[in-house]
Amino acid sequence: MHRHLCEVTGHYWDCSGSAVRSLRGESEPTICYCLEHQVPMEEGDHNQCSIELLACPDHQDEQLRKMGYGPGATKMPQTPQKGESTMFRDGQGNRTVGFCLWCDKDFYTLEEHEEHTANGMVACAVFQVLKDKGYMPPMLQQMVGDAALLDDEDKER
Ligand SMILES: [Zn+2]
Ligand SMILES: [Zn+2]
Ligand SMILES: [Zn+2]
Ligand SMILES: [Zn+2]
Repeated sequence: MHRHLCEVTGHYWDCSGSAVRSLRGESEPTICYCLEHQVPMEEGDHNQCSIELLACPDHQDEQLRKMGYGPGATKMPQTPQKGESTMFRDGQGNRTVGFCLWCDKDFYTLEEHEEHTANGMVACAVFQVLKDKGYMPPMLQQMVGDAALLDDEDKER
């Protein structure tokens, strides 16, 4: 068993050796590799190695929806701007001013955003877990990895 960090809510989960990486367009489980040792995670001891960010099976659907693969999702990662900025919507289609690149929390007001990012982002559970590990924000990571996919989606609108 090894662990992944579920980026949707920032919790750890146990993985038995392979997992579905649906954000990369995969629907079948693929073997988990240790990036540092270049061997399957189930070979050897990787307790000290970096943990792969991966939505757990329970949250995968939710993550795909939030990333814009589901019906009605239209948002792109951006920091909220003062003023009109009404381009963001949450899963229910409500207007938001933006969302957190780390935990994907929706902000409905600029105050909420400021609260979330105040004091070194103490309010952001995901950021607190990841900041010392040198990770990019999960939402950004996914945008980079799936830029091609998202481009296609955009053209349809
Ligand atoms: Zn795994
Ligand atoms: Zn390792
Ligand atoms: Zn999860
Ligand atoms: Zn956050």
